[in-house]
Amino acid sequence: MADRWFGEPARGGFEQRIELRGRLWAGQSAYQRVEILDTVPFGRALVLDGAIQTTEADEFCYHELLVHVPMLAHPRPRRVLVIGGGDGGCLRHVLLHDVERAIQVEIDELVLRACREWLPTLADGAFADVRASLVVGDGVAFLRDADEPFDVILVDSTDPVGPAAELISEAFFQLAAAALSANGILAIQSGSPLLMADELRLAAARIGSVFPIAATYLGHVPAYPGVLWSYTIGSKQVDPREPRRPAPPGTRYYTAELHRAAFALPAYLQALGSGRFDPAVVAPLRG
Ligand code: SAM
Repeated sequence: MADRWFGEPARGGFEQRIELRGRLWAGQSAYQRVEILDTVPFGRALVLDGAIQTTEADEFCYHELLVHVPMLAHPRPRRVLVIGGGDGGCLRHVLLHDVERAIQVEIDELVLRACREWLPTLADGAFADVRASLVVGDGVAFLRDADEPFDVILVDSTDPVGPAAELISEAFFQLAAAALSANGILAIQSGSPLLMADELRLAAARIGSVFPIAATYLGHVPAYPGVLWSYTIGSKQVDPREPRRPAPPGTRYYTAELHRAAFALPAYLQALGSGRFDPAVVAPLRG
């Protein structure tokens, strides 16, 4: 097969490739190119505009950290909002918790359809859960009209370009803070600290300017470029670094010890959000 390897566009002279068994499906929506690849190391993968989003084999590394850290740090999350997350993996992990309502807002119907057909194990029936409801639309517009507070808001979006660009704006974080309950928590996927340091620095600084408590935590997602990945939390009241309940049964990445340790950043990232973070430290790896 001619194109036996897949790689995201190189960033700063850094490229990571994944061997393919085949390219299963591709389509173009009003927002992005949607592809489903069959990869040797990770099984099937969702790719949007050439960027890996999630894979069958390592989705738990990403979803367990994005979801269980804020959900277990919150004293009692009853209403949860997921923005993005078209593959359904984030929603599936939210529903492992004792929530009343989980609303998901995904802008691209084609992503929902492609994942339903080609990556069914990610949602694994989550969209049919009586507690869940799905809105096809823009998460920013949805938040603007939100009339009931959420306890946790999770932003499982593509990288901050195109429809996702506004999801790391200060205005968006203000909207999220206003839509959260008094002890609400926002968590976003904030990209690679090595290859997308500017986006991370901006998101962390903006969340830090809107929320009284802001913290970035790290984990590994093998299929993502540079493997190391970041998540950034804004909390109105509670310390996000402390789990308040045991994890749901069967987690394969998350543990209470790892929850606490994930916030222990290497020295060169500790200035994140303080405005003193110098992305030049990782400049050789930056795009
Ligand atoms: N785990 C992936 C990552 O870390 O990059 C994200 C996966 S999920 C497929 C990303 C989703 O965000 C896409 O389906 C995209 O359509 C959606 N999205 C982007 N901007 C959005 C917006 N403004 N409102 C709602 N969904 C959005």
